[in-house]
Amino acid sequence: MFENKNTSNTNISELGEFGLIDHLTKNFKIKQKTTVKGIGDDAAVLSCDSSEEIVVTTDMLVEGVHFDLSYMPLKHLGYKAVVVNLSDVFAMSAEATQITVSIGVSNRFPVEALEELYEGIHTAANFYNIDVIGGDTTSSKTGLVISITAIGRVTKGTAVYRDTAKETDLLVVSGDLGAAYLGLQILEREKKVFEVNPQSQPDLDAYTYLIERQLKPEARKDIPKLLSDLEVTPTAMIDISDGLSSEILHICKQSKVGCNLYEDKIPLDQQVISTCEEFKLDSTTIALSGGEDYELLFTVKMEDFPKIKGNPNLSIIGHITSEKEGVNLITRGNEKIPLIARGWTSFKK
Ligand code: ADP
Ligand code: MG
Repeated sequence: MFENKNTSNTNISELGEFGLIDHLTKNFKIKQKTTVKGIGDDAAVLSCDSSEEIVVTTDMLVEGVHFDLSYMPLKHLGYKAVVVNLSDVFAMSAEATQITVSIGVSNRFPVEALEELYEGIHTAANFYNIDVIGGDTTSSKTGLVISITAIGRVTKGTAVYRDTAKETDLLVVSGDLGAAYLGLQILEREKKVFEVNPQSQPDLDAYTYLIERQLKPEARKDIPKLLSDLEVTPTAMIDISDGLSSEILHICKQSKVGCNLYEDKIPLDQQVISTCEEFKLDSTTIALSGGEDYELLFTVKMEDFPKIKGNPNLSIIGHITSEKEGVNLITRGNEKIPLIARGWTSFKK
């Protein structure tokens, strides 16, 4: 469906491992003052200030498990692989500074394919102002594996954890939910159509936002900054990679609290609503279980309500209760239903 830009096929062996690394990383410029030594030695060297703490996080993406190259252009894959890692750094309320990139590739991939992948990585590194400071390159028997480690910095003692939400806190989420999952469903559907009829021209106009959320997600770097500008310190925070319900359960379990989530407060884009109608899906279930939204979910003290209410980037979707009250969804019909990690065993009978 999508074409990768380069059409020539240079075998990786023509460059050799070191030639390949040089070739792929020659355009990466150092931007962060804490990067003392980047790519090229046995290890990168970073400086650190005693008033700060370092956060480190890794995510691995495996072809056929996390992505399908028949509709995921390699450039987007590179970009998304960076974004999913940075999202974890921002969820600690930290500033992302460096990444390492490790890839396992089979000889099915020509050098030009890896150039596309690295163009996406490069674009993300520039957009988020981070340095690529190293990685590893190995061969794989069949598919593509990409593992990224992200490093960030935070003022000592100000990292925001998952286990510190308190009773009466408000539950807040950035952006809107469910779109990335629906984007994936649209792409899967078009792939099947394409397999039957390669001449078909998909009309995806009604789904542009959904597809963009799946293929080119962004990490919410702006939210920790927005909160700090509003003089709001989140009491707990997590990023939404697996779906709203699973992330709420993480916060509640680790903080030893309960929660009431209000169905009518869950933020949904118009395309999510219309596509759910078209596919006869329940939009609440999609938002709760869809995943890959990369929004931030956090709690704030009740007294911070006036500072965040009405902010177009933020939705107050519930409040924290005592542990014994459990983790519940309050439906539009004012029913109280225990929230489960996988909403697919639909609570709406
Ligand atoms: P070593 O043999 O010491 O592990 P390598 O030859 O694997 O070193 O790597 C040489 C340099 O290139 C190191 O700085 C390493 O971090 C970097 N590097 C290796 N592979 C990649 C990659 N896929 N992307 C970015 N940097 C890489
Ligand atoms: Mg190595």
